[in-house]
Amino acid sequence: MNPITAFYPLLQEKTAKVVITCHQKPDGDAMGSTLALYHYLVQLGHEATVISPTNWAAFLNWMPGVDTVVDFEAKIKQAEALIAEADWLFCLDFNTLSRTKRMETALAAAKGDRILIDHHQEPQEHMFAYGISDTGKSSTCEMVYDFIVDSGGSQLINQAIAQCLYTGVMTDTGSFRFPSTTASVHRMIAHLKETGFSHSLVHDHIYDSFLENRLRFIGHVLLNRMEVIYEMNTAVMAISKADLYRFDITTGDTEGLVNYPLSIQGIKMAAIVIDRDEERKWSFRSKGDVDVNQFARQFFEGGGHKNAAGGRSSDSLENTLKHFHEVLGVLQPQLIG
Ligand code: 5GP
Ligand code: MN
Repeated sequence: MNPITAFYPLLQEKTAKVVITCHQKPDGDAMGSTLALYHYLVQLGHEATVISPTNWAAFLNWMPGVDTVVDFEAKIKQAEALIAEADWLFCLDFNTLSRTKRMETALAAAKGDRILIDHHQEPQEHMFAYGISDTGKSSTCEMVYDFIVDSGGSQLINQAIAQCLYTGVMTDTGSFRFPSTTASVHRMIAHLKETGFSHSLVHDHIYDSFLENRLRFIGHVLLNRMEVIYEMNTAVMAISKADLYRFDITTGDTEGLVNYPLSIQGIKMAAIVIDRDEERKWSFRSKGDVDVNQFARQFFEGGGHKNAAGGRSSDSLENTLKHFHEVLGVLQPQLIG
């Protein structure tokens, strides 16, 4: 993988066909970073399209440009043609091609140059012609901001780009709360604010646009599905298909739920497993030195960041929860003390 700085001159050399993509079930950072880059490349005269590997949460539908995003699963033929014809394929907010699920084969076979911009650990470097991987960054949106500024496009940062970038930084830093929120992050936000966009409106779109059913569902989960394991400073929640069905839960409604138990005094790790059609999907969150990235990698075919990771299991909900209890002991030194 060549450094991203080697790619910058190419931006001015020709008009390229560009695909910009991210991980499946894009979150605020994935959708924000891909759309911000889209708005930048289009201004430079490139022919860009954002392709999402799957559908996404409804609370992202207000974002500028989201109506142009191609859902790979819904429009496979169109998406495959775009991927095959692309000169450049930007891969944002994921470290391994498998994070794009059914899109992986097409992406791996693409003739164009793949370019990585990501902040997850252990990227598949050999798959990328150019790129930057920096786990010290708060978000991929912060990295796209650097990409725009460092490639000379600072003056092209308009309201649309600012709204997209703000979304990803806000969601990935827990609203500027996590340790990853550096002085540079705040400087970047100051610059974005100068475009005049309303950050309160972005917050409302992301956090205050759910329906009643989602709040009732959270109440149900916290009351009836949360198990607190005090001797391990851990809480775990297991959500069945029946729970999802009863409260009419769709993509995005479960986002953020995993964080709630961390507000209990002393709790250092929170986990949630949700019975999805094709797999049991795990999310892990932790505080301080508790490394859930390593834990997800070792036991749940996953990964992510030290304090926020995900994983999966093909086992039943009951069995994967049992497995969680069995392996939790490896984290004991980090959780206790
Ligand atoms: P979430 O729990 O919000 O789905 O994901 C937390 C973090 O872990 C995100 O940065 C996400 O990209 C990453 N992540 C989630 N699931 C997986 C997975 O199955 N594999 C890997 N490598 N990373 C994941
Ligand atoms: Mn991210």
